[in-house]
Amino acid sequence: MEKTILHVDINSYFATMLQQENPALRGVPVGVVKDAGRTCLIATSKEAKLQGVSTGFRKKDALQICPNIICVPASFERYLDTTKRLQKVFASISPSIYIYSLDEAFIDITDCRKHLYPDVHLLGKNIQEHIKNELGSWVTCNVGIANNRLMAKMASEVAPKGDIIEVTSKNKEALLASTPFKDVCGIGYGLSKKLALYNVYYPYQIRFIPEDELLALVGPFWATELQKIAYGEEPHGLSQLDREQPHMKSVGRSITGYRLYSDPTEIKHILRNLSLEIIEKVRTMHLAGRHISIGLYGQADSWSTHITLQSPTNHVFELLTQVDKLYDQWDHSFKVIKFSVRLSLLHPQQQDQLLPAWQKLESVQKALDTINSKYGRFTAHPAAVPAQKDLIHPEVTGFLGDRLYQLSTE
Ligand SMILES: [Mg+2]
Repeated sequence: MEKTILHVDINSYFATMLQQENPALRGVPVGVVKDAGRTCLIATSKEAKLQGVSTGFRKKDALQICPNIICVPASFERYLDTTKRLQKVFASISPSIYIYSLDEAFIDITDCRKHLYPDVHLLGKNIQEHIKNELGSWVTCNVGIANNRLMAKMASEVAPKGDIIEVTSKNKEALLASTPFKDVCGIGYGLSKKLALYNVYYPYQIRFIPEDELLALVGPFWATELQKIAYGEEPHGLSQLDREQPHMKSVGRSITGYRLYSDPTEIKHILRNLSLEIIEKVRTMHLAGRHISIGLYGQADSWSTHITLQSPTNHVFELLTQVDKLYDQWDHSFKVIKFSVRLSLLHPQQQDQLLPAWQKLESVQKALDTINSKYGRFTAHPAAVPAQKDLIHPEVTGFLGDRLYQLSTE
């Protein structure tokens, strides 16, 4: 049976949600920055896009093109909440969904199309309506419908804002011949630059590169992927999405500061703060890890070190002790701008540890978990980290970097 896949994608998600919350921002160009004081735009509203300002612009360049742009800090906690509501909408349509990023999903309706959704356009409209009811009237989304993920996403990428496009045998070739690589899932910037050497800018044109030259240009893996994309077939990278990942292998967190840091107390505080977040994540996923690494990065230098423990941990006090020990090995030879901590060799948490010392840590940690789940993240934390008001909180990334964690928190 031919498949029916929908790709649903909220238009300008980060900016749209800010406009939904604050009507004064609606209809005006909005740029979203990570935090107050940041200068890089991580998202822009459709009004800003119309004026030529897109993601990745620096604030001052954006202001030159579009003097009335309003730059607003992102509200990541809020996005996580709206994303969960969005996921419920997706899940109500079909049991077979794949959340692709914070604001987009593939929905497979192959098995329920005949009886539940004979009219896929109507289904698209209903989804748009449902999302408006759930997230707000300002929120629009594109829906692409096709027999595989590649074409469904391509359709929703090129559709005008708030539109529904179904890929049929009539429009498929035209779509392949007119969709630039930036809108083709799986073809990144580097690959599109290589193809540009052959004056190839659209999937359809790949068909005309001689096979041996394509192989020489991109290697065997990408040659096969590109051959599929050229004909609108689903490449391996997208077909793989269904494969269940048993659990995450590592959880890491890095942050780039606003300035250079040289005070050891400040540097230690940041590393400890990132450790808190890692513990919260691994505990939420019922995992524990044995390998701990930290990294410090300056303008030109970097330093990192690691340790492998005898038995896995997911206790904050133990991680903080180890991170402090690792940090003490550093020679302070440069000023630091970027910090990272990672806990890897993760495995499902064992409940049957009998050592009294471990059991004591586990009960303390459980008490902390209970308080924090009731009163908010990091409400109770070791005194060795900064005061609550100065803590750095987890970041939600558009690509669900920690997707398994984000999807497992309720
Ligand atoms: Mg989107």
